Amino acid sequence: MASNYWSSTLDADPAAAPPAVPVGDKAEHHDIVILGGGNAGISLAGRLHRYGFRDIGIVEPSDRHLYQPLFSHIGGGTARAEEAVRPQADVMPKGVRWIRDAAVDIEPDAQTVRLAAGTMLTYRQLVICPGIRLDWDAVPGLAEAMDTPCASSNYVFELAPKTWELVRGLRRGTAVFTMPSGTVKCDGATQKIMYLACDYWRQEGVLDDIRVVMVVPTPTVYGVDVVDQELNRKIAEYGVELRYSSEVTAVDGAAQTVTISPVTNPKARAESVAAGSEVLRYDLLHGVPPQVAPDWLQSTGLTRPGEPGGFVDVNPETLQHSRHRDIWSLGDAAGTKNFKSGASLRKQTLVLAKNLKAASKGKAPRHKYDHYSTTPFTVSRSTVVFAEFDHLHKPKPTFPWRGSMKEHHATWILERNILPRVYWHLILKGRA
Ligand SMILES: Cc1cc2nc3c(=O)[nH]c(=O)nc-3n(C[C@H](O)[C@H](O)[C@H](O)COP(=O)(O)OP(=O)(O)OC[C@H]3O[C@@H](n4cnc5c(N)ncnc54)[C@H](O)[C@@H]3O)c2cc1C
Repeated sequence: MASNYWSSTLDADPAAAPPAVPVGDKAEHHDIVILGGGNAGISLAGRLHRYGFRDIGIVEPSDRHLYQPLFSHIGGGTARAEEAVRPQADVMPKGVRWIRDAAVDIEPDAQTVRLAAGTMLTYRQLVICPGIRLDWDAVPGLAEAMDTPCASSNYVFELAPKTWELVRGLRRGTAVFTMPSGTVKCDGATQKIMYLACDYWRQEGVLDDIRVVMVVPTPTVYGVDVVDQELNRKIAEYGVELRYSSEVTAVDGAAQTVTISPVTNPKARAESVAAGSEVLRYDLLHGVPPQVAPDWLQSTGLTRPGEPGGFVDVNPETLQHSRHRDIWSLGDAAGTKNFKSGASLRKQTLVLAKNLKAASKGKAPRHKYDHYSTTPFTVSRSTVVFAEFDHLHKPKPTFPWRGSMKEHHATWILERNILPRVYWHLILKGRA
């Protein structure tokens, strides 16, 4: 393994965040304990506090909060890294107790959570949202390649500026962009960087000298008809070679090669290393690892048995655990049916806050999440195809005017300039 943060959920580093829970015989208790203070945890806590909940504890090891949708822009040279990060203390809702530690185990029958420092928490209601784990080991050589000069990944905050350095420096050769099979948070972000890079190379007059290859596990470029039409138009415009129903199964960073294999069954990556594999030399690699639930979560028995990824076994609509009425989950760690994104969280947070309110009065959850998700494809350095769809990839536009999912400059302004402000000022405060 190249380095710790390749394998962890972003920058979760318990050693850097001393535990605030007093060590003693008695466990610290909260009516609501939230595991993870990312997009899901902070926006839910903000909303619950507004609803009148006064005893909320958030377990969050990291002292910084990251707005991940900007990672694509950092890699594409259209945002600065500082824009995507704020001190965690600044986004923690007032009146909410921040427990600076990492959860390592949950005992549902005893209603307890064990923390990395060895201390215990008890709860009346538990919300699990520690995000997703980047599974670098699933593709041999991928993690090691990140330490070589020609490979990067916007899926790691620290690497996004390197992506931009690579894009800026390339004048000729082969650029390979990859999307793994299985669950991927904001799966469109695997492609967003490719369009931003192509448009930059076109502006610089070097695009004709660069062979651009995009590897996707899907049989079409994305899977939503109206969106595919737009993306295919841009792909033709930029001269991108698409490798459909394929994924990268090995990387050799020293030789600068990727092995691309057909995806025969997205649930069985190992089987896909079959006949028909191609070895391609690259001068720039944007590699995205497969993604699964955090390891410690999988060993709690709260994840869905037998399912790849091992996400929390919740009712995908009410977000309540299928076996424990006092356990809930949302965001990237939840076993919901939607395509994982911050945009889906906006709706999940509202549903979960209302269901928790009902639960606090002894009522059954009746509010339901509708599987909505978004991927804003940055198809150039000034336009976006704002894809909105459900778990079946059926279009679900917020503004149902004709052509709302076409390439527009207005949706670039929305995605690049307005949504980051909405995130810091409204979403995290539980107001949007
Ligand atoms: C490159 C990229 C581009 C993206 N683009 C978009 C986009 O354009 N639009 C969009 O809607 N979404 C986008 N997303 C996806 C979006 O950012 C995520 O879906 C969203 O952040 C998920 O929120 P979350 O709270 O579930 O997880 P996170 O925001 O990842 O938060 C998880 C939190 O849990 C903490 N944690 C980890 N382990 C533990 C533990 N053991 N105990 C307690 N806490 C723990 C972590 O430190 C972290 O703070 C993008 C993501 C990436 C990587």
